[in-house]
Amino acid sequence: MKILVVGGAGYIGSHMLKRFQDTEHKVEVLDNLSTGFETNCLDFTLHKCDLANREKVYSILQNNYDLVMHFASYINVGESYINPKKYYENNVTNTLNLLDCMVDLKISKFIFSSTAAVYGEPSLIPIDEEQPLKPVNPYGNTKAIVENILADYQTTYGLNQVIFRYFNVAGADPEAEIGEFHQPETHLIPLILDAVDGKRDALTIFGTDYDTPDGTCIRDYVHVCDLVEAHILGLKWLQEDRGSRVFNLGTGDGFSVREVVEHAAQVTKKTVPIIESARRPGDCTKLLSGSSRAVSELGWSATRSNMKQMITDAWRWHQNGDYKK
Ligand code: UDP
Repeated sequence: MKILVVGGAGYIGSHMLKRFQDTEHKVEVLDNLSTGFETNCLDFTLHKCDLANREKVYSILQNNYDLVMHFASYINVGESYINPKKYYENNVTNTLNLLDCMVDLKISKFIFSSTAAVYGEPSLIPIDEEQPLKPVNPYGNTKAIVENILADYQTTYGLNQVIFRYFNVAGADPEAEIGEFHQPETHLIPLILDAVDGKRDALTIFGTDYDTPDGTCIRDYVHVCDLVEAHILGLKWLQEDRGSRVFNLGTGDGFSVREVVEHAAQVTKKTVPIIESARRPGDCTKLLSGSSRAVSELGWSATRSNMKQMITDAWRWHQNGDYKK
């Protein structure tokens, strides 16, 4: 297939590109490089383009792609409260540009990166895909809106799609060529590693009074390489014309913030300096994925998603690759 990876210069997109190096697919990248890096695109053709520029998107999409993968969105929950306009513009309006160009050009296969944030504070744990979408922050709202648009575009325009709702993506390329690097960084594991090696003074733990055994939030972490493998299966799903489907991507295992800190101390053999602080707005107490659908229907299995492995890979990247850009 000929595939366009939108947002291929970012954290998850770049791991997808690296995985594509082992396939026969013909792959190109569209990215505005606002948060990603050109070096992450490896040897693939990069179309430097903002999704806001609909004419340019249209002309790029005229290159006969069979399938589009969309990783390009803003993901910072805190920022989405401060600047919701930026989130609705990019995550919704610009995505709509992309979808409309696809419909016009009859590109009918789409893989979309959604998020567990669409569920909000869940009433049932683990959360399966049938639970209602009740996001509790602007970021989650933007993803839920796109999911609703996609359902309508499937019905009316025959846009076949696989939607992946990511839980907490972590880890890095085991060869440490690429890894997680956001500016500013807001994610737990890279922040812990920064605190470990002195790039920041300490890790701030946001909230120690949650209704969990140790008072800190519980999350379901999935290795970026396992996540990318699910996309390869999603691609096959669409290639086989199996229709549109939503899949959670997580393991169902939960780790509290303090447990992640403990694992990081073990892996790095260093102390993690911490500061305990108030809750961060928009954080749910506990998110655990019910992922049996991805396992039974896609044949997905998470092989690297144990906490020690994820931190080991992230730490190797942090030491070898991080900040070398
Ligand atoms: N967290 C924290 N300190 C930080 C960053 C994150 O205590 O500096 C906590 C956060 O409150 C959440 C968990 O770590 O409970 C995972 O946060 P992250 O931002 O990595 O992912 P999210 O779950 O928000 O998608």
